[in-house]
Amino acid sequence: MKYIGAHVSAAGGVENAPLRAQEIGARAFALFTKNQRQWVAKPLSDASIAAFKRNLAAADIRPEHVLPHDSYLINLGHPDAAALEKSRAAFLDELQRCEQLGLKLLNFHPGSHLRKCSEADCLARIAESINWALAQTTNVVAVIENTSGQGSNLGFQFEHLAAIIDRVEDQSRVGICLDTCHTFTAGYDLRTIEDCERTFGEFDRVVGFDYLRGMHLNGSKAAFASRVDRHHSLLQGELGMDVFRYIMNHDAFDDIPMVLETIDETIWAEEIQLLYSLVEA
Ligand SMILES: [Zn+2]
Ligand SMILES: [Zn+2]
Repeated sequence: MKYIGAHVSAAGGVENAPLRAQEIGARAFALFTKNQRQWVAKPLSDASIAAFKRNLAAADIRPEHVLPHDSYLINLGHPDAAALEKSRAAFLDELQRCEQLGLKLLNFHPGSHLRKCSEADCLARIAESINWALAQTTNVVAVIENTSGQGSNLGFQFEHLAAIIDRVEDQSRVGICLDTCHTFTAGYDLRTIEDCERTFGEFDRVVGFDYLRGMHLNGSKAAFASRVDRHHSLLQGELGMDVFRYIMNHDAFDDIPMVLETIDETIWAEEIQLLYSLVEA
């Protein structure tokens, strides 16, 4: 069974996100549990938490099919000690907000070396950050997203993801979210079924499908291997539909949240239907 949705708005309160998911026919969704461009947010109120859980149940969406995304400000591999500490504290707060909402996953971008330390040092620091935060929480899985490799962002090679996982102490609480746009622009082709077999086969060899806890389903405005992160709608851009046909018909992608971050939210309902229509009998 496939669980498709979109990254819906939590404007007006996190409790509104499940309602917006329901409106577009989603069986999964992503959200920010706080303003993604600010460091500090008010704690979630008891009323908001209760309403979120009620609305989630009413939408018939399970907590394990919600993939919250952390703030864009957080850099768990920051080379500067004070900035790293700030990022770690914010990441812990994000994990705790997920726990309060009864959610199981937190999606985040691994981190950036800012050209001030080596890739290996940055990857080790990211893993230490994950260990530090997981030790202070009990439930939520830290879901590392692969990146396009824009600027000094790490996570654009499957080997980066494997290197982080290797250093995580509790490997039952770390996972991966693959973004189709990021995978493609990082230099792993997905334009044909053969490309998908090669790319996902490599992911399985280097990281392992056991760690796959979510997908971001996006078209790409940017060219293959451009290392540029620009999403597009599914039917537009450089990727084509074979990758989505492949995903919808392979059981390695069963039972995990698969979330649209495509650029035109007015067609999310249609894109969700389109994806389900690709399932072959
Ligand atoms: Zn993404
Ligand atoms: Zn992106």
